[in-house]
Amino acid sequence: MYRLLLVVGLLVVLYFLLRSAIRELKGKNGQEPVLPGNNEMLQDPVCRTYVPRGNAVSASIGGQTYYFCSQDCAQTFRKQLAG
Ligand SMILES: [Zn+2]
Repeated sequence: MYRLLLVVGLLVVLYFLLRSAIRELKGKNGQEPVLPGNNEMLQDPVCRTYVPRGNAVSASIGGQTYYFCSQDCAQTFRKQLAG
């Protein structure tokens, strides 16, 4: 009876070791996922410059998200909408 418990205990320990090992492997492979569309070129509506999405300044105006090359252009756009 005790031997059976020992075997079951060992199996449980092995199971957890395997699971963490698999998780570690998956984590190593899954690091830095390449975000689709991160290098997509977006046009600045103010100065008409194309900026990669990763470097663009995003601003949510009136429920819509706009992308700009800089904070200056975002502010200019806000002023244009207000005025
Ligand atoms: Zn701009």
